[in-house]
Amino acid sequence: MSVAHPPRATGDFDTTNSSAVRRYNRTYGLIPPTVDSQEVQMKRCLMQLSRKEKSIEKYLYLSGLRNSNVHLFYRLVTQHVKAIAPLIYTPTVGEACIQWSSNYVQPEGLYISYEDRGHIGSVLHNWPEKNVEITVVTDGSRILGLGDLGINGMGIPVGKLALYTACAGIRPDATLPLMLDLGTGNQHFINDPLYMGTKKPRVSEEESLEFMDELMQALHQKWPGIVVQFEDFKNPFPALEKYGPRYTCFNDDIQGTGAVVLGGIISAVKQSGRPAKDQRAVFLGAGSAGVGVAKQIVAYFMREGLTEEEAKRCFWLVDSKGLVTNDRGDKLPDHKVYFSRDDNNAEQYKTLEEVADLVKPTILMGLSTIGGAFTPKLLTKMGQWNEKPIIFPLSNPSANSECTFEDAIKCTDGRALFASGSPFGPIEYQGQTLTPGQGNNMYVFPGIGLGAILSKATIVTQSMIYASALALSKSLTKSEEAQDWLYPEIARIRDVSVKVAMEVIKAAEEAGVAREPHIKMMGDDELEKWVRSKMYEPATETARVEDEVRDLLMDLPK
Ligand code: NAP
Ligand code: MN
Repeated sequence: MSVAHPPRATGDFDTTNSSAVRRYNRTYGLIPPTVDSQEVQMKRCLMQLSRKEKSIEKYLYLSGLRNSNVHLFYRLVTQHVKAIAPLIYTPTVGEACIQWSSNYVQPEGLYISYEDRGHIGSVLHNWPEKNVEITVVTDGSRILGLGDLGINGMGIPVGKLALYTACAGIRPDATLPLMLDLGTGNQHFINDPLYMGTKKPRVSEEESLEFMDELMQALHQKWPGIVVQFEDFKNPFPALEKYGPRYTCFNDDIQGTGAVVLGGIISAVKQSGRPAKDQRAVFLGAGSAGVGVAKQIVAYFMREGLTEEEAKRCFWLVDSKGLVTNDRGDKLPDHKVYFSRDDNNAEQYKTLEEVADLVKPTILMGLSTIGGAFTPKLLTKMGQWNEKPIIFPLSNPSANSECTFEDAIKCTDGRALFASGSPFGPIEYQGQTLTPGQGNNMYVFPGIGLGAILSKATIVTQSMIYASALALSKSLTKSEEAQDWLYPEIARIRDVSVKVAMEVIKAAEEAGVAREPHIKMMGDDELEKWVRSKMYEPATETARVEDEVRDLLMDLPK
C-alpha cells in the first residue's frame, strides 16, 4: 500500500532551501549541494521549457513543476504570465484534457463520483489541505468547445485555479480543483481502457442536481463560506439559479465571460463614438455564454440611460436554427426566451448574413464555436456600415474563432475594434504593429474570487460581477488607451486583479452581503494596501519558509 501523499508538494525539494531547512525537512543530501536563488531556478526551468517543442509537452513539464516545487512554479507563472498562461490554460489545456487519462501521473484535485452520494463529505475529508477558500467545480459535460470529456475535464479546474493563484494571489493550498464524475456521454472514452472515469452514461439532470445539493452542503460544512466557481457544465443554469441565492458561488462561463466581454465592450463603445442607444448587436451563438454576455451588456446599456425594454431590443441572437424569434415554431429553452424577438419573421432570417443585412449591426459577437463564421464578406460589410465596427469573435479554442484578427483588420481597413476569446498575435498593417484584444476571462475571475474571499461575501451578487467589468474597463493605462486597446496588457494582470477585487469588495459591501467588518471603514488607498497584503507572493515564499524553520529550530530544546 502506498503512503498517502499530499497532492501539492510544499516545496520540500525546493533547491533554494538553505541547509538548515534541508536538515529540518530531512532533504539534506537529497538535493544537490548548491543553494540556488529563485532566479537561477527560473532560468533552469525556462531552459527546460524551451527544449520542449510541443505545447502539450510544456504543459506536462509545468504540471510536474507545480507538483514538485509549487512556489517556483508560481513565481515563473507570475513573472512570465503572458507566455505561460496559454500553456497552463487555454488553448493548451484543451489538448491536456483530451489526453488527461492517458497522461495521468498523480492526483491534482478531487474526483467525486455519483456512487459516492450519501457520503460526499467523507470524500472531501480526504483532501489534504485544511483551509480551502475556493473551489472550481465541473462535471466535464462541456469542456471548452470540445464537448463531453467526462473526468478528463479535470484540466479545467486545475488550470483555472492555477490562474487564481498566479493572477490574484490566492494561496495555492487554499484552492481545490473538483471533478464530479457523473458518467459521460463520450462513447469513445467509455470504450477506452485508459479512461479513468466511471464508464457509464451520464446520470439524469435531476439526479445530477440532487447530487449537487449534497455536494454544496458538504462543501459548506467542511469549509464554511467557501467560494464555489462552476465551470463548463453543459446546462449551467439550474445550478446557478438554485445555489446562487444561497451560497457564495458564480459561474465563470456565464458571469465571468459576461463581465470580461462587458469590460471590453464598455471600452469599445466609448471608442466607437456611438452612444449605447445607437448600438445594434448581432450575436452568433445563443448558448450559456452568448446569453450571459448579452444580459451583461443590457445592464450596462441600462446604466447608460436606456430602459430594460429599449436595451433588450438592441440585440439579435442567432443560433443553429437562425434568428431567435417567438414565431420560430420550436420550443425555445428558457434562457433564450428573454432575447427572443417578436418583430421578425423567422422564415426570412435563417442565416447570420440575412440577419446582419437586416440589422446592419454596430457590434458583431461570436459565441457559436463555429470557426470562420464571420466571413470576409460579412466583415467587409461591417466596415462599410461602421466607422469603427466592434467585432468580437469569442469562441475558443483558436480554431473555433469566428474570424482571425488579420481578417477583421484587412476587411475593415484597420478600423475594427477587435477582441477575441483565444489569443492572436500582433500583425503588421500599413507600417504599424496592431495588437489584438483578448477577451480572456482571466482578466476578471481571479479578482472576483479574491474579492469574494476577502469580503467574506455570503453570495456573489450581479452587482459584484458588474463591478468587476467596470473595474476592468477602468484599469487601462493612458498609453494603453492611446493605442485603442480594449483590454490592459496581460503582464499587468496582478494589478488588474487588485483593482477588480477592490471593486468587487466595495460592491459586496454596498449590497450588504460582506461579512468582513473592516472594509466599511477603508478608503481606496487603505483597501488596496489591505488587498495586496492578503495576496500570496511566491517570490517571498521561500524566505517565509526559511523564517518559519529558523523559528522552529530556535524553539527546539538544545
Ligand atoms: P454552447 O452552449 O454550446 O452554445 C453554442 C451556441 O452556438 C448555441 O446557441 C448554438 O445553437 C450556436 N451554434 C452552434 N452551431 C451554430 C451554427 N452553425 N450556426 C449558428 N449558431 C450555431 O456553448 P457556450 O458555452 O455558449 O460557449 C460558446 C463559445 O464561447 C465556446 O467556443 C466557448 O469557448 C466560448 N467562450 C468564450 C469565453 C471567452 O472568454 N471568450 C468564455 C466562455 C465561453 P443552438 O442553441 O441552436 O444549439
Ligand atoms: Mn468554460
